[in-house]
Amino acid sequence: MSDIIQLLPDHVANQIAAGEVVQRPASVVKELLENAVDAGATQINLVVKDAGKSLIQVVDDGLGMSMTDTRLAFERHATSKIKSAEDLFNLHTKGFRGEALASIAAVAQVQVKSKTEKADVGTSLQIEASRVKEQQACVTPKGTSIAVKNLFYNIPARRNFLKSDAVEQRHIIDEFQRVALAHPKVGFSYVHNSSELFHLKSANFRQRIVGILGAKTNEKLVPVEEQTDYIHLKGFIIKPEFAKKTRGEQFFFVNNRFIKSSYLHHAVNAAYEGLMRDKSIPSYFLYIDVDPKTVDINIHPTKTEIKFEDEHSIYAVMRSAIKHSLGQFQIAPALDFDRDTDFDTSYEQHKKPISNPTIQVNRDYNPFEVETPRKATSNFSNHKPIIPNAWESLYTDIQPQKDKVEHSSKFLNAPLENNLFQHEAISESIKCFQFNGKFIVADINDKLLVIDQHRAHSRILYEDLMKSITLDAAPCQQLLFPLEMEFSSADFQILTDVQEALVLIGFSFEKWEDNETLISGIPSHVKESDIAAMFDQLVADMRLGIPKNNFEQNDILAKSLAKNMAIKSGRILSTEEQHDLIHQLFTCKEPTKTATNQNIFINFAHQDLEHKLL
Ligand code: ADP
Ligand code: MG
Repeated sequence: MSDIIQLLPDHVANQIAAGEVVQRPASVVKELLENAVDAGATQINLVVKDAGKSLIQVVDDGLGMSMTDTRLAFERHATSKIKSAEDLFNLHTKGFRGEALASIAAVAQVQVKSKTEKADVGTSLQIEASRVKEQQACVTPKGTSIAVKNLFYNIPARRNFLKSDAVEQRHIIDEFQRVALAHPKVGFSYVHNSSELFHLKSANFRQRIVGILGAKTNEKLVPVEEQTDYIHLKGFIIKPEFAKKTRGEQFFFVNNRFIKSSYLHHAVNAAYEGLMRDKSIPSYFLYIDVDPKTVDINIHPTKTEIKFEDEHSIYAVMRSAIKHSLGQFQIAPALDFDRDTDFDTSYEQHKKPISNPTIQVNRDYNPFEVETPRKATSNFSNHKPIIPNAWESLYTDIQPQKDKVEHSSKFLNAPLENNLFQHEAISESIKCFQFNGKFIVADINDKLLVIDQHRAHSRILYEDLMKSITLDAAPCQQLLFPLEMEFSSADFQILTDVQEALVLIGFSFEKWEDNETLISGIPSHVKESDIAAMFDQLVADMRLGIPKNNFEQNDILAKSLAKNMAIKSGRILSTEEQHDLIHQLFTCKEPTKTATNQNIFINFAHQDLEHKLL
């Protein structure tokens, strides 16, 4: 047989290699931003269209490239950053593989313009699918501009695989934030579809964190610093009371490179031991400088893990430095018996000017006025505070409504399991009691039911919320004082995607811009004090769920809120509330499973019990 092996043409090899580096628009953003940082830029501007699917452009004022270098930069394994294998152990740059530009040019249409300080004219280059289409001298300022258009235009399968704009955009924001946080001295801007999402001036670490996460973050930060022979640790942690229930603001940078490390995350958590509410996760922005010889970053190009020579020392230094900072800022309990703590001012109050107390009176308040629930509205003029519900009974608002009773009759024709719980069967006279603060044990139609109260309630709420979103809007209870909330740009983007749905389920917003919102109304059954945690959880669930379309988005929203709003186990319920819960459950379309497919109850017929007693 004749020889059959042949070398793949370069452009095919490049396309295969590109799969490793360029997974989605955010990967291109990361590579271009890092190249600009490596080129010593002081200002880097990112312009994105359609979540990077049509355009990703990075313009920097760095070193620029000569004409030959501009051409070479797009060859595979072409780099100015290392020359020999030894250099791998002494890296001071983000890039070193010389693969990124070649990979990007293999799967997109690329236009480059670059000029060095000394050159009179710059070079302009157009490349498509690894082939140079045009090269010209051009007038351009010192630095480099790379525009990547129509990513994956030549690999339709990859292009179809991209997620919705909202999701891709979120990944881009994540990458942008990581690079911007790692390099506070560099100015950054980020424009998406002609609106400027970030405008970050050259700053110090604290200012940069605040620039990205919002002005309110400033007072939540506690500085950390420690210098040993082996590492220099600096950065900020968040005061324990501001820890969130969900991940999202945990940043480690090693030699200015963003990394993930569950081991070091554990060290931070260990330092907070005893100071945190249940299951809260502290936010942190920690910069670790170590000798590049003692770390190995020579791993997969898109991975963010790193190997340290002496991980244990870093763990110990980090834990003790954070503990020390928490103690120093009087966050950890101080054992100072001589001090009269009555005179202490809290850290936040300390810096604020003293002002006379003021009273705000609502002149429209009429104690005899009967509250009528209003339709939620995003029309902000409709903001006249009305008295919130004095009672917070969980079920009063969800008394069986006419249409619900009607649809419950469906159970007559439903499969056997549901037939047991026909509407008629669930009369007021059902016998039930609560067990262990978690279950309701009920005797229904000769069956013994053990119902998980939290799951039952989350099913009821889930169906209610989906109905509000898809059929008719839910009532909204106006807050006496609007609630101000601020988010990071990334989180705000996520919430903007579901803002309409939030209005339909009973929220009303007086303001929705600049990463801030003023909540003037909330759904009945929701407590004002739970709102912050609820939004926190919602953002985390939306991040994890990665919705592909509107329905999925609403589904994740309803699941997240239902779980959050549902009564918790441990909550003692009156007999009336237990009855109501059972009633409501069996008027649901799907009373047996939660929206996340968990069983809501188990049941035993008397034969089952007799069998067990044999
Ligand atoms: P790497 O960053 O791993 O070296 P890249 O493919 O990202 O590989 O870039 C190849 C080379 O192109 C870099 O080593 C650098 O010399 C040059 N280069 C890329 N982007 C820029 C830029 N924005 N400014 C100046 N030079 C650049
Ligand atoms: Mg690079």
